[in-house]
Amino acid sequence: MALIVQKFGGTSVADARKILAAAGRAVATKRAGNQVVVVVSARGLKTDELIELAAEVTDNPPPREMDMLLSTGEQESVALLAMAIQKLGEPAISLTGYQIGIVTDSTFTKARIQSISTERMRKALDEGKIVIAAGFQGIDRDFNITTLGRGGSDTTATALAAVLQADECEIYTDVEGVFTTDPRKVKSARKIDRISYDDILELASLGAGVMHSRSIEFAKKYRVPLRVRPSYSDGVGTLIAPESEEHTTVITGVALVRDAARVSLQNIPDRPGTMSLIFSKMAARKIPIDMVVQDVATAGLADVSFTVPQEDLAETLTAAQAAIDELGAGTVQHGTNVSKVSVVGGGMRTHTGVAGQMFQSLADAGVSIGMITTSEIKISVLVDRNQADAAVLAVHDGFKLNEAGSKKPSVGFTPRTQGNGSKSGRSRDEIERDVVARLQAMEDIVVSEVQLDPDQARVTIRNLPDVPGVAAHVFTAVAEGQIMVDMIVQDVGQGGLANLSFTVPRSDLDQCLLLLREVTEPWAGAELSFEKQIAKLSVMGIGLRSHTGVGEKMFRALADAGVNVQLINTSEIRMSAIVAPSDGQRAYDSLIRMFRA
Ligand code: ADP
Ligand code: ASP
Ligand code: MG
Repeated sequence: MALIVQKFGGTSVADARKILAAAGRAVATKRAGNQVVVVVSARGLKTDELIELAAEVTDNPPPREMDMLLSTGEQESVALLAMAIQKLGEPAISLTGYQIGIVTDSTFTKARIQSISTERMRKALDEGKIVIAAGFQGIDRDFNITTLGRGGSDTTATALAAVLQADECEIYTDVEGVFTTDPRKVKSARKIDRISYDDILELASLGAGVMHSRSIEFAKKYRVPLRVRPSYSDGVGTLIAPESEEHTTVITGVALVRDAARVSLQNIPDRPGTMSLIFSKMAARKIPIDMVVQDVATAGLADVSFTVPQEDLAETLTAAQAAIDELGAGTVQHGTNVSKVSVVGGGMRTHTGVAGQMFQSLADAGVSIGMITTSEIKISVLVDRNQADAAVLAVHDGFKLNEAGSKKPSVGFTPRTQGNGSKSGRSRDEIERDVVARLQAMEDIVVSEVQLDPDQARVTIRNLPDVPGVAAHVFTAVAEGQIMVDMIVQDVGQGGLANLSFTVPRSDLDQCLLLLREVTEPWAGAELSFEKQIAKLSVMGIGLRSHTGVGEKMFRALADAGVNVQLINTSEIRMSAIVAPSDGQRAYDSLIRMFRA
């Protein structure tokens, strides 16, 4: 007998008719011979309404009380759904986070799951009941109610699917599946039939609201087969699964974070420990910093820029000023009304030209690029907010994401377990104990790998005209030379000029410089420089951004080893830094100690 987890989002249980429809689906799945666990969100806009209500009562609602309030939305839904299922003639039991035994830490409003006990759910399932679990909520060790952050019911669903070793986790929502970009914003968005965990993780973390990004961390870690499906039809939706050989699109999708703010610390000392200090100030305030960009220093002074959610700006500026005061030099500068546009695709690992094409599409649409960061599988740019929609559309259609057609995935699933045993030969109980134990460690083991790449070289072009089209020119030329570009970094321009740095394989450096000399010729003031020997360090893992502490630890490790950082860029799943080659091994050892400790 297979076990299926089904999650229904807010719009899918908004009224009595929809609740009965969701109940019908769960009942049909049970009657087809499966065990069923249903995870439900609060109805419709309930969570938003509760947040507004609290705001009418106080400007500053205490987070503990906020969680007490918000958790009621899901409690209402589970009860109604259990009634609906019983009306349709199947036994069902509704359970709150507490009753299921979802234990979290005490970070109210964005708590992390630490453990889940499966006993009560198993017992109910074995009695033939459909289990209806409240999404988004848990309880801390002191029995306070906690919530997992907006959109957190997805995370409840995948976490339950992981501990219960479900055969499939179905996410029912109000669109046909995962699209190449938000289908409500871009008409030409196209549904994706199958997407890898890495691609959806980047897309979700970079702003695609369709799935809570932490839910994908669970799914990836525990290999939960996920399917995002429409609740209003029988559409097959999108399968989220490990990368497959057949599905080799270069670019998977485009995501947007509309409300970002940029903070820059300029003319700060270029010495070991500077970044560590700045990151520790941010981490102490739990500010999720994103899109970190540090270019090579000039005359012993460095600049670093990063983005934060607009609502964290004031606090970030206070923290930044505190860092400057302690460093004894530098100024803080910021920009509001900016948005982050990202393209994501596993195929970037092996294809040249993605950056050039993205920048060209933006230039054609007259969009100026504020900052650039890249990782192996994504490129993010910062643009003015009033150009954000135009930028998404330009990039989406520029990559012809509206056109590509790939094969339809098969519908349904293959049961992974039989009876009480499993294919791995271990008993269900053994597997469950193992998953629960690993779940407890989830909080700590975000970093999965530290890498030292000694084979790259750095290229920097200073004093480029800060106008649309320049970056496109540069990267198109490099791509035409078949050179794989890695780690692109561009900070905000100053005085109409911008600096751009990136790394290329050392063996391609000479050819790259030749090409660049040619492209930069028309730009009178542009200065090309390079460094043949550099060491690139990367810390990889999942949810790096939601763990502000990872950046802090990384830069602390480098500072402890007395290593100066020349260039930085980050993504959701990787943080990279360029250091002098003579520092490479020492930096690597220090990072290993820090993250294995
Ligand atoms: P639910 O209430 O079911 O959890 P959400 O509102 O959280 O639903 O997520 C679904 C919404 O996500 C869609 O209505 C869509 O507007 C938005 N969305 C953003 N980016 C994407 C994307 N790339 N693919 C599909 N939907 C997206
Ligand atoms: N009800 C919560 C929210 O609106 C959780 C969820 O829907 O996933 O954010
Ligand atoms: Mg959601």
